[in-house]
Amino acid sequence: MREGSITALTLAADGIHEDRTTHWIWIKKLKLNPKIDLFWWRLYNNALPSNSLFVNRRISFFSGCPRGCEVVEDKDHIGGRCFKIRKVASLLNNWGLHIPVYECLEDCLGGLQKMLGREGLAANLYCTVLWLVWKSRCKLIYTGKEDSDNSIAANAISFAVQSNFLNFQQDNWDAYQLLLSSHWNPPPPGWIKINVDGALMKNNRARIGGVARDDKGRFLLAFDNPLQHWDAAQTELFAILFLKNVVKEWMFEAQGVIIEGDNRNIINFLQNSVKEWKVSKVIEDSLAFLIDFKQVIFSYSSRLGNKLADMCATMSLERSFLWEDLLENSIPPSFLHCLKEECDDLGIS
Ligand SMILES: [Zn+2]
Repeated sequence: MREGSITALTLAADGIHEDRTTHWIWIKKLKLNPKIDLFWWRLYNNALPSNSLFVNRRISFFSGCPRGCEVVEDKDHIGGRCFKIRKVASLLNNWGLHIPVYECLEDCLGGLQKMLGREGLAANLYCTVLWLVWKSRCKLIYTGKEDSDNSIAANAISFAVQSNFLNFQQDNWDAYQLLLSSHWNPPPPGWIKINVDGALMKNNRARIGGVARDDKGRFLLAFDNPLQHWDAAQTELFAILFLKNVVKEWMFEAQGVIIEGDNRNIINFLQNSVKEWKVSKVIEDSLAFLIDFKQVIFSYSSRLGNKLADMCATMSLERSFLWEDLLENSIPPSFLHCLKEECDDLGIS
């Protein structure tokens, strides 16, 4: 009887050990930045100097979260439960980058493992958020001040994109945006988002258009240009390639650019081209202008989220245009109205 229990215990312990090792094997596949990798290894092995660890070691009496969450600061709290993590996640969601939240470290590990591959970037982003939130927590303890939710979220994107995708997004960024929102989402602070669209017209003509905005939804520029009639997909592609004619020098100073269109095939195609470029180090001439940006993300949007770009392509003004401020006489009120509406929806003035 006794022996049996011991065997059962040993088996259970082996099971745990095996589980832990397997988890660690796939976490490595996320290719986290070495510092983030180390943080996760410590979180995973319950080796972070959390308040609950200090109490267990009788170094301190206070086991709560230093942010005043009024619960024990243990690996589950650091692994997803803390309100700071939730606030940062909600910001990322507002920017159109959907990341999950978890109740405990076990759920988190299970969830992240499922995201491996198709949603690898989202998983990487989550791991990065947790690390930055932990760093900010340590800063709070030593300096009394925390990093803002905004700066953590923006930093997390830069880290995740750089460490995993060499300045470009993974091949499945759009799979990562399964929860397509029905409205326009602003880019992260310091980034630019350019929405593009194409429209087929009569008489073998097509038009392409686009709008660039910043993280507050502020207008940066808009353009429209006629094309010979191709098919719908080709037109969408040309709308993106046409950007090389409209991007301005100052745009390269931005943290990055999100190029968003509502044709899933074309966005996939561009994501794949960039992936090939990373391997071959040869980029097609038509895409070479992208190299000057600090980071480029191609993102798929619903038609509703791409409304203003669609408007540019379908306005059918007599001449093609490139507006660089809102004082241009030729800007129709309908465009201004839509721009204002989308800006108002963001709740930022
Ligand atoms: Zn907390």
